[in-house]
Amino acid sequence: MYTISKQFHFSASHQLFGLGDCHPCARLHGHNYIVEVELSSETLDEHGFVIDYNDLGVFKTFIDDTLDHRHLNDVCGDDGVTSEKLAKWLFDWCKKRWPEVSAMRISETPKTWAEYRP
Ligand SMILES: [Zn+2]
Repeated sequence: MYTISKQFHFSASHQLFGLGDCHPCARLHGHNYIVEVELSSETLDEHGFVIDYNDLGVFKTFIDDTLDHRHLNDVCGDDGVTSEKLAKWLFDWCKKRWPEVSAMRISETPKTWAEYRP
């Protein structure tokens, strides 16, 4: 199995509800998010790639246009956009375009990752 990944970055705010007033994520706050899409394939294309990294440019455009410097609660229409939910949402967006997508990871801080992998 061949596996590749590429990282993307965006900054956004969010607020999580139902955690109690003392929970820091209950307050409006922001992160410099890291998105890492992973793609896997048993075979390579005629150029020796799982897919060409350049093909992922539309994913960067989607992130820039839809998520960057936005309030994620507004974008995703949810009461609270966790990294886990964001990973699934972005996985589904990519999977429609590239069947090789095997996982999506979201980082809010240097010490934390959330991953969606079917
Ligand atoms: Zn947060």
